[in-house]
Amino acid sequence: MVQKSETIWFDGKQVPWDEANVHVLTHTLHYGAGVFEGIRAYQCTDGSSEVFRLEEHMIRLVNSAKILGLKVPYSAAELCDAAIETLMRNKLAGAYLRPLVFIGEGVMGVHPGNNPIRTVIATWPWGAYLGDEALEKGIKIKTSTFARHHVNVMMTKAKACGNYVNSVLAKTEAVADGYHEAVLLDTTGHVSEGSGENIFMVVNDVIYTPHSDGVLGGLTRDSIINLATDLGYEVREEPITRDMLYIADEVFFTGTAAELTPVSSIDRREIGEGKAGPVAKLLQTEYFKIVKGENPDYEHWLHRYTI
Ligand code: PMP
Repeated sequence: MVQKSETIWFDGKQVPWDEANVHVLTHTLHYGAGVFEGIRAYQCTDGSSEVFRLEEHMIRLVNSAKILGLKVPYSAAELCDAAIETLMRNKLAGAYLRPLVFIGEGVMGVHPGNNPIRTVIATWPWGAYLGDEALEKGIKIKTSTFARHHVNVMMTKAKACGNYVNSVLAKTEAVADGYHEAVLLDTTGHVSEGSGENIFMVVNDVIYTPHSDGVLGGLTRDSIINLATDLGYEVREEPITRDMLYIADEVFFTGTAAELTPVSSIDRREIGEGKAGPVAKLLQTEYFKIVKGENPDYEHWLHRYTI
């Protein structure tokens, strides 16, 4: 269950959590044409707090809306201010933030007409998405029977609500089959991403990840590519096949919610020694130092605030 906060920012106002409701004929509820973000705020070691890559997340939100042809009534900068206001109002030193832009009620045809575009930012405390043990020991994943979207079927650069039907199908199948998470192949049969994470593999100390064309351009993916490069690793964006993952030294997922989660097995085949590998561990440690404000080289990724 989500832990309630006091208020949710809704169309420019702080609304009590239990009153942030919509009508059942909300257009997006029927057709999925809305966009959202997942953002994390962390309590820093010095007692302040920061929202990780807040500006880039809000720009991605506005761009996702643009891809769907929705006009967000707020600029990315205004949404950043609203996010900070909401965190402060809810006295959250660390949190998960869920901005959502959706089409409200009005006409009910597929064409949304002049229905209002509504904007929400919800915030609540949230720990490790796949569990603390997952961060430490790694997770068991399966190759999904569901293919990931083709770029010309769903717009994969948009973090669109409807795109997540595919994620829900893959995740529920994986969990029902006794796995923690799914990895999806694209329609050409190449590895694409998890239900809510980008994927990486390590072979002979070189780090590989699929090209970003068919996957969500993850901000954690970008952070890890930058961090790994700064640490002296070679990072290659290349097509990856399912069997390449099986024989990789290490495999790991990245995402705002999943942070950096090592993969211990895929389709019941142990990856490396079946636990978090050294490269994943190092990158995870350095990533957590960055988000806790301990590495001044990456201060530009942090939007600091104090409650
Ligand atoms: N792929 C998908 C499908 C996702 O839902 C997410 C989570 N937003 C990611 C990748 C990772 O993106 P980010 O690192 O920006 O959270």
